[in-house]
Amino acid sequence: MTMVVIIGAGVAGLAAAQRLQQQGIRATIYEKSRGVGGRAATRRIDSFTFDHGAQYVKAPSGDLLELMHASHAYDLERDVWAFTADGTIDTGDPVQNADPKWTWQSGVTALAKTLAAPLDVRLETTIQRIEQTPRGGYRIYDSDGTLRDEADYVLLTPPAPQICELLQASQLDPAQQNQFLSLLRPISYRPCLSIALAYAQRPALDWYALINTDRQHPITWLAAEHDKAGHVPVPHALFIAQLSPQFTQYHWESAVKGTYGRHGEPLPDYVTTTHTLVQALAGTDLGQPLWANVQRWKYALPEAGVSFEQINLPNSRLFFAGDFTFGRGRVHLAIESGWLAGERIGAAIRPTFAVRYS
Ligand SMILES: Cc1cc2nc3c(=O)[nH]c(=O)nc-3n(C[C@H](O)[C@H](O)[C@H](O)COP(=O)(O)OP(=O)(O)OC[C@H]3O[C@@H](n4cnc5c(N)ncnc54)[C@H](O)[C@@H]3O)c2cc1C
Repeated sequence: MTMVVIIGAGVAGLAAAQRLQQQGIRATIYEKSRGVGGRAATRRIDSFTFDHGAQYVKAPSGDLLELMHASHAYDLERDVWAFTADGTIDTGDPVQNADPKWTWQSGVTALAKTLAAPLDVRLETTIQRIEQTPRGGYRIYDSDGTLRDEADYVLLTPPAPQICELLQASQLDPAQQNQFLSLLRPISYRPCLSIALAYAQRPALDWYALINTDRQHPITWLAAEHDKAGHVPVPHALFIAQLSPQFTQYHWESAVKGTYGRHGEPLPDYVTTTHTLVQALAGTDLGQPLWANVQRWKYALPEAGVSFEQINLPNSRLFFAGDFTFGRGRVHLAIESGWLAGERIGAAIRPTFAVRYS
C-alpha cells in the first residue's frame, strides 16, 4: 500500500513529493492532465516554444535558488515596464526589475520536469473522490469509479474550487469535511484568457514585458516571448497577451482553446481585437499574425487564500498545499507550500514509521 498519495502534479504536489523522498518516504502522485507542471505550462507549435501560464519565476530563498540551478534556469535580465489605459508607458518598478527573472530555454515546464524526474507520477488520472477507511486511511477513486490506491496520508494540491468538488464527492468525517469546505469555498480565482500571437518580424523593444498598473486596459500583461533564448526562431516574434478578467469573462463562452490562422483561415474577432491592442502597445506595425493560440485558464490566480496553518489541521491525515495557501498565484510560493506540506507529512509519519519498522 502506498503511504502517501498526492493529487496534482503542479509544482506544489511535485515539491511535496520531493521533500518526502528526501525523508525516505514514497509518494504516488496522480495528475489528470498529460504532463506535469499544472499552471507552470509550456506549449510547442512548430519551432515555437512559449510559456502560456507562468511567465517566469522568482527565487527569494537558498532552496529555491538551488532548484533554479538544478533545473538549468537562467536570468532573463530584461525589464518589465508599466502602462496605463491611456497609453502611458514608463520603466516600471526598479525594485522588481532588479530581481532575477528565472526562465528556461525549453520553457517553464523544465522546472516541473526536474522535480518530477525521480518521482512516481501517474498521468492522465483524474481523482474524483476519496473515502476514509475505518482505520483512518484513505481509498482513492478515479473518475471511472475505479479504486486506484490506498494511502495513510493524502495531500490535495489542485486549485481550491477543484478541491471543493473533490471533497464534496468524498466520504470523510462529516465535521472535518465541513470544516475544510468552509475554509476553501470562499477562495475565488481570476480567470484568464492567454493569447499567443506569432509574427514574421521581431520589433526592437526596450522592454521584455508590459504590465497594466491601473487595471483599466483589456490587456493586463504583454510579454515578448522571443526574448527567451531558444523559444522563437529568428527573425520571428511571439507575444503573450494575458487578458483582463473583464475581457476574459466577456469572451469566455466564445473563446475556444486552440490554434488559429495557420492555414490562412480568419482569426476569431476577440483574437483580432487582441492583435490590434498588442500592436498599439508595441508601438509598431507587426503585420498580420502568422497564427494565434488561445488558452483558457479558468482558475488562473487566487484572489484570496487560507493560511497553510489554518487549513492543515493538527492530527489530520488530509493535507493541503498550493498557491492558495499563500493567497497569491506565484510558482515559488506554490513550491514553498509543497515543501512545507512534505515536511509536515514527514513529521506525522515518523512516529508511525518507528513503531512499524523497529
Ligand atoms: C496565465 C498565468 C500567468 C501566471 N504568471 C505567473 C508568473 O509569471 N510567475 C509566477 O510565479 N506565477 C505565475 N502564475 C501562477 C503560477 O502558475 C501558479 O501560482 C502555480 O503554478 C500554482 O501551482 P500549484 O501546484 O499550486 O497549482 P497547479 O499548477 O494548478 O497544479 C494543480 C495540478 O492539479 C491537477 N489536478 C486538478 N484536479 C485534479 C484531480 N481531480 N485529479 C488529479 N489531478 C488534478 C491539475 O491538472 C494541475 O496539474 C501564473 C498563472 C497563470 C494561469
